[in-house]
Amino acid sequence: MRYIDVHSHIESVRFEEDLDEVIQRCRDNQVVVVNSGVNPSTNKRILDIKKKYPDVVRVSFGLYPIDALAKEIETGEGDFIRDIENFDLDEALLWIENNKDECVAIGEVGLDYNYEEIRSSDELKGKQREVFRKVIDLAKKIDRPLIVHSRKAEADVMDILEEKGVKNAIIHCFMGKKSLIKRGVENGWYFSVPPVITRLEHFRMLVLMVPIEQLLTETDSPYLSPVAGERNEPSNVIVTVREIAKIKGMDEEEVRKKIIENTKRVIELIVK
Ligand SMILES: [Zn+2]
Repeated sequence: MRYIDVHSHIESVRFEEDLDEVIQRCRDNQVVVVNSGVNPSTNKRILDIKKKYPDVVRVSFGLYPIDALAKEIETGEGDFIRDIENFDLDEALLWIENNKDECVAIGEVGLDYNYEEIRSSDELKGKQREVFRKVIDLAKKIDRPLIVHSRKAEADVMDILEEKGVKNAIIHCFMGKKSLIKRGVENGWYFSVPPVITRLEHFRMLVLMVPIEQLLTETDSPYLSPVAGERNEPSNVIVTVREIAKIKGMDEEEVRKKIIENTKRVIELIVK
C-alpha cells in the first residue's frame, strides 16, 4: 500500500459501469480504499464490493442523517440516488455490531444542517444529535474510529465528540472555521483532505493549520473531484498528497509515507 483513501462511496451508481477499471487503477497505484456506507442498504452493498475486491477495499459502516439525505435527493443536489428508506435505528445499530469484524471504522456519520428546513427545526436537529450520540456509543463499544461528516453543523459535531470523549475521529471534508480546526487539532483528531483542495482555498488553509501528523487523505468519490465537473475516484488521493507536499513545503514521498503512518495509527486496516 502506497496510498490510502480513507473515505469514498464507490458503491455509487456512478461507478456501476467501470468499477473494475477504477479498482485496477487502485491496484496500479497501490491505493487502498475505505468504502463508507450511509445507511443500512449501502452498508450491505459495500460488503459485496469488499468481497469482490478484498485486496483493495475496506469498509466502514455509516448512518448518515436520513432527513438530510432525503433533502439532497429532493433538491437534486445529491448527484446519485442513495436509498432513503426509513429504518429502525436500534436494528441498524445491532446489524453493525453483529458485522463489526467486517469494518475498519464507523462512518459516514455526523450532523448535516445544510437545509433551512432542518436548520430551523430544533426537533430535526435534536433527532440528528440523538442518532449521532448512539452511533458514537456503538463505535466506542466495538472499538472503531469514527469517520465524521459535518455540514453547517461543525460546532455541534465538535461539542458532541468532546462530550463523548472521542479520541479516534477522522473529520472528513471539514469546512468549519479556523477556531474549530484548532479545536479539532487540540483534541488529537485527524482531518482527511479531499482532492478538491486544488480548487478550494479553504483546504489550503486547513492543511497549513493542521500538523502533518494529523492529516489523512480521502476522495469522497464520486464527489469532491480535483477537476470541476469530473467524477472523482480513489486514485486521486495522489493529487491530495501532491498538494499537501506543496503547501507544507515538504517532499512528496515524505508526505506519502507520513499519511500512511498516520492512517495506521487511527485505523486498523488489516481485518479479516
Ligand atoms: Zn462522504
